[in-house]
Amino acid sequence: MTNDTLTSASRRQSLIAMLSIPVIALAASSFTINTAAYAADNLPRVLVLATGGTIAGQADPRAAGAYKSGQITGEQLVASVPGLDKLASVNAEQISSIGSQDMNDKVWFALAQRIQQAFDKNEADAVVITHGTDTLEETAFFLDNVVKGDKPVVIVGSMRPATAVSADGPGNLYEAFQVAADPRSRGRGVMAVLNDKIQSARSVTKTNTTSVETFMSPNDGPIGYVDTAGGVRFLAQAGAKRTTYALPASDPLPRVEIVYSHANMDAIPIEDAISHGAKGIVLAGVGDGNTSKPALDALEAAAKKGIIVVRATRVRSGFVTRNVEVDDDKNGFVVSEDLNPQKARVLTQLLIASGVTAPAELQKAFTATW
Ligand code: GLU
Repeated sequence: MTNDTLTSASRRQSLIAMLSIPVIALAASSFTINTAAYAADNLPRVLVLATGGTIAGQADPRAAGAYKSGQITGEQLVASVPGLDKLASVNAEQISSIGSQDMNDKVWFALAQRIQQAFDKNEADAVVITHGTDTLEETAFFLDNVVKGDKPVVIVGSMRPATAVSADGPGNLYEAFQVAADPRSRGRGVMAVLNDKIQSARSVTKTNTTSVETFMSPNDGPIGYVDTAGGVRFLAQAGAKRTTYALPASDPLPRVEIVYSHANMDAIPIEDAISHGAKGIVLAGVGDGNTSKPALDALEAAAKKGIIVVRATRVRSGFVTRNVEVDDDKNGFVVSEDLNPQKARVLTQLLIASGVTAPAELQKAFTATW
């Protein structure tokens, strides 16, 4: 691993060199850059899987303040953060180089397969995934539902590119390594580490477009905190009741659409979803997962045709409760509980892919955490 032989001074040099390299457009498809093998010491072996995002972003020479995400490799990122080599023995691989707005099933499957292989073959003690922040929560939740075993998987990103004044990526990456390397991190499912907080894959969500204080767990708060001086402090157990589903043999996952409810809502978005082959519809409903009469009628008709209907909410926190204003039992609907629409979509896809389609069974899977 390159860090083993680098002094802090030379790591600083490599960061300076990295920041001044011209913007290189990396292919958005899956490819691998392996560093040398893990060092032969007793440090935990952390496999870094890089996917792109702002944490790998570089300034765009065309406009002040603008940048392009996914320009720097995982290997370069690791080499740029002083002290990682004291926490872990590191191997970095590039899975993709994309902004996470382009995250897709192919990258998800590649990540899930590589992590499972690394754990099953005992190639790594923990995995750190570098990722854009826009869909970080969806990737975290997908992996939480398919990766088996209790070794730590930590997902990390940044809100500012490496070239920004006061970039948050290096600190976040260091803290992600602190968590990944800590034996107490085992058995907690996939965790997101940003801005000194450790948050569960199920609860974490992006709440602010630009602030570094953006990732929150609205219903239950962080499961722990981490900082360079204080180390790792866990407050709550996550992942204890984690259920994992078999990764389907190949991508893509079944088509599930999110339909956003609003005042003056009609049935057209629901009819569109059905006409484009949706196997499931997640309602980002108003309030307690509700919507207008025409939209509810369309959802009821969809459920009668065997399309899975899950009521979630566009409201940022709280639970969606069965049979309050909407008769879920009669209509064959499922409620998302605490899962926001984008995570409810992922779970619905995995359940359909696993052959779970009866509303009662689907509901059990959504409610499993409580
Ligand atoms: N849209 C980019 C992404 O998600 C930038 C957001 C970020 O990484 O902070 O990759």
